[in-house]
Amino acid sequence: SGSLTVGQFAEKLGRPSTDIIKKLMALGVMATKNQDLDKDTIELLASDYGVAVEEEVIIDEASFEDEGLGIDEKTAVVRPPVVTIMGHVDHGKTTLLDSIRHTKVTAGEAGGITQHIGAYQVVHNGKKITFLDTPGHAAFTTMRARGAEITDITVLVVAADDGVMPQTIEAIHHARAAKVPIIVAVNKIDKPNANPDHVMQELSEQGLIPEDWGGDTIFVKISAKKGTGIDDLLEMILLVAEVEEFKANPDKQARGAVIEAELDKGRGPVATLLVQNGSLHIGDPIVVGNTYGRVRAMVNDVGRRVKKAVPSTPVEITGLNNVPQAGDQFVVFEDEKKARQIGEIRAERALITERKETTSKVSLDDLFEK
Ligand code: GDP
Ligand code: MG
Repeated sequence: SGSLTVGQFAEKLGRPSTDIIKKLMALGVMATKNQDLDKDTIELLASDYGVAVEEEVIIDEASFEDEGLGIDEKTAVVRPPVVTIMGHVDHGKTTLLDSIRHTKVTAGEAGGITQHIGAYQVVHNGKKITFLDTPGHAAFTTMRARGAEITDITVLVVAADDGVMPQTIEAIHHARAAKVPIIVAVNKIDKPNANPDHVMQELSEQGLIPEDWGGDTIFVKISAKKGTGIDDLLEMILLVAEVEEFKANPDKQARGAVIEAELDKGRGPVATLLVQNGSLHIGDPIVVGNTYGRVRAMVNDVGRRVKKAVPSTPVEITGLNNVPQAGDQFVVFEDEKKARQIGEIRAERALITERKETTSKVSLDDLFEK
């Protein structure tokens, strides 16, 4: 009783044995994988991996959960709205996203090569709008499940020849749960069998009553395919944004969320981040979910390298030690050491939680049960 090998201890903790051996070396103890550890050493190591380390950074670490985006109303300035497009399958979400991007981005950008980074920005009447380029509910729900609230406005696409369908209703529920204003885009009005009034009727039954009928929901009739009504839709988005006054503090250290992330063969972990508050700069020490690093390079939605990303801007970054998950939150820290420390603790904790969920609970008592 009271004895455990380095290997067994490592397994209980969900870490490679080499980590434990390295840690022991740092403590002046030379050990092998099969060596027995005494109680004092186990306690020392356990506290090193858990409680003691946690206390040191608990204040900084807490900023993830407690501080939110840290928006200071006194100095906040208006930022572009972040829009998600939702709706039933085949009602035209992708076509609409393409249509908006094509008319607004390609025309305005020299070269016109748009990069797919999961989000893009357009300019309408001199004002920016950010669109999440991952249509459908998956993106939205994944984000929310992971705690990220990134959508300011939902555009609900409903095909005028098909009407309200199950995913239309689901989308309404998601938007309402997130308290996000809905703008209805009645799509496919170019079709001979289009019946926009029928859509308005059906949506009224769901509590989305058109302004024309005395309600307060904005309806815009569009044809994503022909480009009809796109300007009106953008106008309405800006109108809602003006009313809602979405704000942020560009001078603060950046905070935000991961839109998507992957491992690139050449560049390593690549993540598209949406800056929700503050500004992100090249070189910033950053913790992203359970990963950390320093922003090595930043590329915007049209493939240009940028040095700075202000609120509501999507950017693709490299420089992380690992691949974060969509919906993870990110926080910039003042120094790289702190970022690494917090990143490592978050990763360790995630690993332990994962193991706790799959295997039995790991506690000191468990370690000494045998
Ligand atoms: P999603 O599943 O919501 O992303 O729908 P898509 O954008 O893929 O569109 C589904 C189908 O509807 C495609 O064949 C589109 O070409 C077509 N479609 C989309 N918008 C319109 C429109 O405004 N008018 C017409 N006639 N067809 C459209
Ligand atoms: Mg689609």
